[in-house]
Amino acid sequence: MRLVLLGPPAAGKGTQSARLQERYHIPQLSTGDILRAAVEAGTPGGLAAKAIMDRGGLVPDETVIGIVSDRLSEPDARGGFILDGFPRTVPQAEALARLLESQNLKLDAVIELKVDDAVLLGRIAKRASDSRAGGASIRSDDNPEAFKARLAAYHAQTEPVAAYYAGKGLLKTVDGMAPVETVAAEIAKLLDIAARSAP
Ligand code: AMP
Repeated sequence: MRLVLLGPPAAGKGTQSARLQERYHIPQLSTGDILRAAVEAGTPGGLAAKAIMDRGGLVPDETVIGIVSDRLSEPDARGGFILDGFPRTVPQAEALARLLESQNLKLDAVIELKVDDAVLLGRIAKRASDSRAGGASIRSDDNPEAFKARLAAYHAQTEPVAAYYAGKGLLKTVDGMAPVETVAAEIAKLLDIAARSAP
């Protein structure tokens, strides 16, 4: 199963990816996680990305396309994968299509989690206060200003990616405001249908 999970920040992509990972035994590939690890490791690429990530902007396409191309060539991704946080722009989606085509592979489905902005802003405020209360560290881009920039980037640059996949007949939209279990069940139902109708 080769999947893309689309959705604004705090839509629940990470939570649903973890479940899909278990259900289908395929790795979750999160460009955000890979970039944060590069920042943590202090690599030149990580340092260049950090300032952009902290203000909620998008890292250049060529950087993330390189990351995904490397990651998809690792052995554990051969049997399938869940892309979480990539593609975020139409050029990234086109690069992914070329990459998969060069290996005679195709995406099975693109799942889009739909959540209203007001709900997302509420979730992020709660995430920050829960982290503070629990003494955990808060992501440096989970402050209200960076979050608003991430949301604006989603509307401007990533929503066209949903339209791109809708045009290819791959897009499946799920109400991301439903309880976690309901969202998971809805995704499973859609993927079972996609698997049954696959050529
Ligand atoms: P995430 O963990 O997916 O919310 O990503 C955190 C941050 O990493 C984003 O706000 C961007 O700055 C950067 N990032 C992650 N994935 C991408 C991508 N596909 N394209 C551009 N920037 C990305």
